Amino acid sequence: MSFWRTLVDLFLPRHCVVCGTELDGTEQDLCNVCLCRISPVTWTSATDNPLLRTLWDRHDVEAAGSSFYYNASSDFHNIFIAIKYQGCPKLGERLARFSFPVWHTMGLGQGVDYIVPVPLSLSRRLKRGYNQAEWIASGVVASTGIPLCTDVLVRSKSNETQTHKSASQRQENTRNIFVARKGRTDLNGRTILLVDDIMTTGATLGDSIRALRETFPTVRVQIYTLGWAGER
Ligand SMILES: [Zn+2]
Repeated sequence: MSFWRTLVDLFLPRHCVVCGTELDGTEQDLCNVCLCRISPVTWTSATDNPLLRTLWDRHDVEAAGSSFYYNASSDFHNIFIAIKYQGCPKLGERLARFSFPVWHTMGLGQGVDYIVPVPLSLSRRLKRGYNQAEWIASGVVASTGIPLCTDVLVRSKSNETQTHKSASQRQENTRNIFVARKGRTDLNGRTILLVDDIMTTGATLGDSIRALRETFPTVRVQIYTLGWAGER
């Protein structure tokens, strides 16, 4: 532990975002106990798993994966709240950086040209100050070296929060909220890895894919989310 870290912790103690325990100099945002309690997904295939099967009937997705199980009573719930709402997006970057390599060895991200985070609307981005999906995507960039692409996909409408909506309400709430624009990056014939924080029904990711395919009909899509809220 560095002298300065010790000194800062003495006067400005940091606390675990899950259990509130005071952190020591080697811990960041999460204490080691809570870090060990996060449940990693146990899927063993990037081309046949619950996330992919949820999307297969609606969208053509090559491969997909998630790192952690998520539900409202899980420890990951508090981690997600911290990442998304409490100004701790770097925690998302670190969790993705350390957990994505497992998926990379199973083929996810292989042959990918660009990593595309699901965007927030401009108003929500300005209010929050950051896009948590972009930070998670940065963790994937750090572990793979694949370039980030943030100039193509745009959230044109600020939809209502999805938190308390049913599956059918989520589908309706996210219909036609994204557009993909032709700019410096042509995605036709390219493969992208679409990245979001959590997948619940796939409504947000589904509308992102629709928008991308409308503008780039031959783009190939893979998906990675840090959390998975569906069946185990
Ligand atoms: Zn803790």
